[in-house]
Amino acid sequence: MNWKKLGLSSLVIAVAGSTTFSVAANAVAKGVSKQLSFEQAGTEATRYLVDYLRIDTSNGPGIAANEKAGADYLASILKANGFEPQVFESAPGRGCIYARLKGNGKKKAIILLSHIDVVPAKAENWQHGPFSGEIHDNELWGRGSLDMKGMGIAELETMLLLKRSGHVLDRDVIFLGTADEEQGGAMGAKWFVDHHPELIKDAEYLLTEGFYIDSAEDGNARYWGIDVAEKNLLWLKLTAKGAAGHASMPIANSAPNKLARALQKLVDSPMRPIVLPEVREYFKSISVAEKGQLKTAFADIDAAVKNPETLKTLQKDSMKAAMLQNTFSLTIIKAGYKTNVIPSEATAELDCRLLPSVNPDAFVTEIKSIINDPQVEVTKIDWIKAEPSPFNTECIETIKAVAAKEAPGVPVVPVIIPWFTDSHWFRDLGITSYGFLPFQINEKQIGTVHGINERIPLAEFSNGIRRMYLMVEKLCSSK
Ligand SMILES: [Zn+2]
Repeated sequence: MNWKKLGLSSLVIAVAGSTTFSVAANAVAKGVSKQLSFEQAGTEATRYLVDYLRIDTSNGPGIAANEKAGADYLASILKANGFEPQVFESAPGRGCIYARLKGNGKKKAIILLSHIDVVPAKAENWQHGPFSGEIHDNELWGRGSLDMKGMGIAELETMLLLKRSGHVLDRDVIFLGTADEEQGGAMGAKWFVDHHPELIKDAEYLLTEGFYIDSAEDGNARYWGIDVAEKNLLWLKLTAKGAAGHASMPIANSAPNKLARALQKLVDSPMRPIVLPEVREYFKSISVAEKGQLKTAFADIDAAVKNPETLKTLQKDSMKAAMLQNTFSLTIIKAGYKTNVIPSEATAELDCRLLPSVNPDAFVTEIKSIINDPQVEVTKIDWIKAEPSPFNTECIETIKAVAAKEAPGVPVVPVIIPWFTDSHWFRDLGITSYGFLPFQINEKQIGTVHGINERIPLAEFSNGIRRMYLMVEKLCSSK
């Protein structure tokens, strides 16, 4: 591990290149003179992560997830280190864990949140077992190593390091592990905010998964991406009705025909681009590391989306395209029960993801105008609104300060992610929440999340622990 002199107010870094630091003035004043080592922390945390990955907490349709075993395991580590964790059973076998490190109360608390469950994995498709916790070529294998047991352990290790440092913290630091994120959070984050709001109501900030440190192909970091908002979810149902009849005598305006025409219009209609201020800042910041046409396009994204050719190029990257427009995916089509009977009803369902500022009713009106057929009914099935968090807070400034030392010149940028995390449950409570996995990850590694062969490079795991510690420690230190 090679890291630079960090010079933070409350830490005295030892010799550059060394991996130890001594505790700063306030701890020394209390007579604490422990030496902390990020290298040792990495080794200790790797042991924890190996065991944590071996606990199968798969959560999927029809699977009885066993997050309580994971919560109990985390609790055992915290207990052994002098914390008083609480494990809550949200349902048989389902569990959340909560622990708090007390500060002096000068500022409001920060929550370090992770989810304990993982998506299921089929062992036969993996090169090394998804619940083996094996290490090969300095990479730790296992379902959840990136999503998100790795970050959960980085947060846990941060709790241990903060306690051992003896620092007087300006904020309480809350460690929270929840069940059921992968299935929406009803038995996890939602359950916790519904049943124990008193335990987190004093929190100002929350850190959890969302985006990450984006790595270029050459191994250099492109940017630190912070999830500040998630797209809102709107599910729509399209219903067409018409006369039923025998299929030997076609009905031009049958329900399936009406639906087919409506769907044809929809899939042929590109959604118009919308550039939100955060998205403009995102593209401008990442343009620095780009070359050629993309550099020009990113630097002035408003102009780029107005050029049909450039827009087409931008839309090839589905993640970036999702930040620039509302989207819909046609997921369910239903009609008929017998090949020779024309049914009287045909339905389709759309999974729409709307940018944070978009009104769902206005979007429905837009969909209706594209279909342009009053005989096709459009109804809302579900609507989940995720409040955004601002990008001009002390927490963001702290992350930027740590990034400036850790990775000089690499920008910290706001990202609107097209998928959901547990952040929205806490944003709804007014807690400013950021999604940031402190690991540098490339596109190939991201592909293993919810895929096969998920694993984390050990060096990056240790780097992530250091970044996490430095961010939280700085955010909890007096200026
Ligand atoms: Zn996750």
